[in-house]
Amino acid sequence: MKLVYCSNCDAVSALANFEREVCQTCERPAARVDVPRPWQHWAGIGVIVAGSAILLLMYIPEIQFRVLVLLPFLGFGLFLSTWGLRVSKDKALELGRARVKERKA
Ligand SMILES: [Zn+2]
Repeated sequence: MKLVYCSNCDAVSALANFEREVCQTCERPAARVDVPRPWQHWAGIGVIVAGSAILLLMYIPEIQFRVLVLLPFLGFGLFLSTWGLRVSKDKALELGRARVKERKA
């Protein structure tokens, strides 16, 4: 995933790595902004990995119980990575705006 900033809409778009660097709103070329992944992103991955590891270690033959055990981990992991994405987008917006200001000055 990568983040791009559009100075036309003053908005950040999250794109897949193979996508062209254009704004998702107006489809004009947008500048790529590299933001380090926040801890929430890694914590989210960690929670999902931990949930899967627990499932592997525990012997639960019933598939319904496996899903029940994994669901809270998946939910919490998703919550954390969504939070991380929001933090990254805010940071990218800040950096994108600063860059535009620099260009104008
Ligand atoms: Zn735009």
